[in-house]
Parts: sequence; C-alpha cells; structure tokens
Amino acid sequence: MGKNIITTPRYGKNFKDRLYLPAIYEGCKVTFKHFFTNINNSNAVDTLEYPEEQPSDITSRYRGLHRLTHRADDTIACVACFMCATACPSDCIFIEATERDDNKDEKMPKSFSIDTLECIFCGYCVEACPCDAIRMDTGIFSLTGNSREDFVLNKDQLLSYKGAFGEENSCARS
Ligand code: SF4
Ligand code: SF4
Repeated sequence: MGKNIITTPRYGKNFKDRLYLPAIYEGCKVTFKHFFTNINNSNAVDTLEYPEEQPSDITSRYRGLHRLTHRADDTIACVACFMCATACPSDCIFIEATERDDNKDEKMPKSFSIDTLECIFCGYCVEACPCDAIRMDTGIFSLTGNSREDFVLNKDQLLSYKGAFGEENSCARS
C-alpha cells in the first residue's frame, strides 16, 4: 500500500522570487530611506527622548500604577471584601484579610499585593471596589526592577503612592 504523501507548493513563481534577495533588498531600501529621512530631520519625528524627556500629556483617565487610598482619618479605606480580586481577569490581586485595629466594624487587609507582571491594566478592580479604596490615578506608567519580586507591589507600597490628579491621598469615603 502506497504512502499518502502531501506535496506543499513552493511559493514564488520565478527564479527571482525564489532567490529572496530582491525582496530583502526592497525591504532594506524602505527601512534605510525612513532611517536617513528621520536622521536628517529629527524635529519632524514625533518621539520623546525617553527617559531624559518625560511625557507631559498624561490625563486623569490614564490607568497608571495602582494605589490604595486612605480615609479622612488616615486609616486604610480597604475593607478586604475581595471584590477587586474577584473581578480581576488576570488573578493578580492577592489579599489576606484580618480584623481591623482602628475600632471600625469592618475588615482590613493584612496583606494586599498586585503582581504587575500579570496585570493587564484593565481597571476592573477600580470599578469593582465598593469603597473607592483602590485607584489607578498615580500617573506612574513605568516600573523597573531586577527580579520578578520587584514587580509585585505590596500593601505598604500601594498605600505610599499619591494620586496625581488632585485628591492626593484620600478616598471619597469617611
Ligand atoms: S487592572 Fe485589571 S488586571 Fe490589573 S489588577 Fe486591576 S483588575 Fe486585575
Ligand atoms: S480594594 Fe476595594 S474591592 Fe479590593 S478588597 Fe479592598 S475594599 Fe474590596
């Protein structure tokens, strides 16, 4: 019994197509044309010399790094209800709840961390929070580190960030 052999077609009809070098040449020509055009007229290029030059057009709707807010009396606004973690499509919010130590009838997070390497910055956690306790209004768009752990924001870090667009540190809730 003969074997069922499938012959796949070779793309490119003529010798020039099959040589590939003309296509590579055409691609390089376009690349170098733009390269030298931009070198000769760098003012016309709409790019920033980052990081020396920072963007100045971040608006209040921009979803930057998260922060946890405080109430008016400076206590943590989060009541560890897990709504944000439940809404998170990336499963990158980790909360451990405990009893409050500030005489309020609610819980508070013993630990609260966000793995920003998993986060897709969708903002669902902010939408889901019933207490205005988590926001993404820090205006911080860049986070650097040397290890994976550097990108996991813990509770203290999240509480230390300020809002960049007014209402620096407080939530709407008392
Ligand atoms: S922004 Fe989206 S992915 Fe990131 S922590 Fe919030 S819900 Fe999860
Ligand atoms: S940040 Fe908001 S949604 Fe998340 S646990 Fe705290 S109170 Fe609940």
